[in-house]
Amino acid sequence: MKLQYTEEKLIQLFPQLFYQQPRVLVPKRQDVLTVTPWLAPIVWEGTFDPKILDSAYRPLNLTIGVTAFAVGKYTRFVRRFLESAEQHFMQGYQVNYYIFTDSPGSIVPARLQRGRRLLALPVPSFSSWQEISMRRMETISRHLARLRPAELHYLFCLDIDMVFHNPWGPETLGDMVAAIHPGYFTVPREQFPYERRSSSAAFIPEGEGDFYYGGAVFGGLVSKVYEFTKTCHMTILADKANGIMAAWQEESHLNRHFLTHKPSKLLSPEYIWDDRKPKPPEIRLVRFSTVEKNYKEIRN
Ligand code: UDP
Repeated sequence: MKLQYTEEKLIQLFPQLFYQQPRVLVPKRQDVLTVTPWLAPIVWEGTFDPKILDSAYRPLNLTIGVTAFAVGKYTRFVRRFLESAEQHFMQGYQVNYYIFTDSPGSIVPARLQRGRRLLALPVPSFSSWQEISMRRMETISRHLARLRPAELHYLFCLDIDMVFHNPWGPETLGDMVAAIHPGYFTVPREQFPYERRSSSAAFIPEGEGDFYYGGAVFGGLVSKVYEFTKTCHMTILADKANGIMAAWQEESHLNRHFLTHKPSKLLSPEYIWDDRKPKPPEIRLVRFSTVEKNYKEIRN
């Protein structure tokens, strides 16, 4: 007997084969930059098809890691972070959450979907919030050095005082991924808060720089993130030896590194949004954004 399928049925059965044809003369977004001058894609809502990406990445059986730090009062953010990640982060993929904390006992085991794990890893509590923030580069690189190669394919290093609001999927995967800071995507490079003292290893002179990247979100292949975090740790140590702390701690070092080692993929500010800001029309879908906090209270 010959089977006859309607087009509708075929689309249902093989969705990955049926999608809108990409049109060379009709770009999906005209209001934003979607590729850097070094040809790295910039990921915005509307520029990709999640179904095509899923059909390419799902069969690879990837495990994606997340590191986040919850030291001192920041443990209060863990629950919301994890709950929202379980709803939106890399749905259908294996995920390992590595939560670095000074009080592993306070990390309540969250209800995770199958194939997803949570590890609470002890770290010391440093005296200042700047030190806690900067030491992340050292801790992540040391952690990655100890991992079994098969344990993890990609890793994202995220701030904990943030929440997922919409899907974050394989469109974000790349060799080395940086995110465009929500505070500086509309301003000229002269206004970027780069480290401007030439005595710092994070120094960027006037007239240089592509974007201002946020320290709250970066990621990539585990081997690349390892090299990246190790280098940033080294440049932070070099500054320390000279009695300098860069303007925005590890974020300054991250920006300096990405000036000479261009990231292979950029995430738009939709992936590192700040809800205190008015949302311009270019920000179509906020996927991950900061939780309001009282800086004075939480840093003491
Ligand atoms: N952090 C922490 N405890 C602290 C300070 C910082 O765990 O006392 C971690 C936490 O993961 C936080 C990140 O470092 O999300 C960045 O710090 P913070 O959010 O204060 O920096 P901001 O992005 O607000 O400048």
